[in-house]
Amino acid sequence: MTETVMIVTGSSRGIGAATAIRLAATGSTILLTYVANPERADDVVSAIEAGGGRAKAIRADVANEDDCLRTFAEADRIGRLTGLVNNAGVVDVAARLTDMSFARLRRIFDINVLGTILCSREAVRRMSTAHGGKGGAIVNVSSASAKIGSPAQYIDYAAAKGAIDTFTVGLAKEVAAEGVRVNAVRPGIIETEIHASGGDPDRATRVAAELPMRRAGRAEECAEAIAWLLSDAASYTTGAILDVSGGRSILP
Ligand code: NAP
Repeated sequence: MTETVMIVTGSSRGIGAATAIRLAATGSTILLTYVANPERADDVVSAIEAGGGRAKAIRADVANEDDCLRTFAEADRIGRLTGLVNNAGVVDVAARLTDMSFARLRRIFDINVLGTILCSREAVRRMSTAHGGKGGAIVNVSSASAKIGSPAQYIDYAAAKGAIDTFTVGLAKEVAAEGVRVNAVRPGIIETEIHASGGDPDRATRVAAELPMRRAGRAEECAEAIAWLLSDAASYTTGAILDVSGGRSILP
């Protein structure tokens, strides 16, 4: 039987790492990507191997087309691509729009939006029955901020995640008859290092009491939702955007 492979972008830490570990239990080989932390990616590979799974990590920036093509070429060497999780994402420090530089806006959109679209293109080229593929599933990692807007914090990031939601719905319809399902999860406040990169390492702890469930979420809780959307158990689900936010994204 041909080996199957799933790609999880940005999986050296946080939600991506938890997702890679969770998906390894399906028996597919997991191809992890990272940009700056090879040791952390290696730790995730070791954890998967210790559990009897198979994984490989490569350095690849989702916003760089050559890196993206190289990632998928590596997946082709491993086996048949059945799943893609577009997880890699970044925030920047809290700011109002009037203080956001062009370089910041470009980075936020290049990684969060273009990266997801580029990787999805490569996945569809392999999975779609219209391209000779045997089907597959894509899960995009959006954010509750797409619904909330995150004013005076990072409306650029929120707008980028809004683009992910729209892209998810559109691509889902475009390839629904070609054996490819496309869904998204919208995490709320999850305990990861992303808050430190936004200049607020204690954010998840600090805001926990204000959240409907009175706690932040765990990366593993996002991983479970992603794994379900990727699995055959979700065979009639496409174009769905699942809030994994402890109630945070429910509109008033
Ligand atoms: P994180 O802990 O900061 O981890 C980010 C991961 O993405 C790391 O593995 C990092 O690799 C990788 N990465 C960063 N830039 C990349 C690039 N250009 N190309 C490839 N990989 C890249 O983040 P997280 O909290 O797990 O977030 C994961 C996803 O969930 C993101 O899309 C984020 O927007 C979304 N999300 C998170 C929260 C939350 O509260 N945590 C809430 C809503 C949505 P290195 O280790 O090499 O830097």
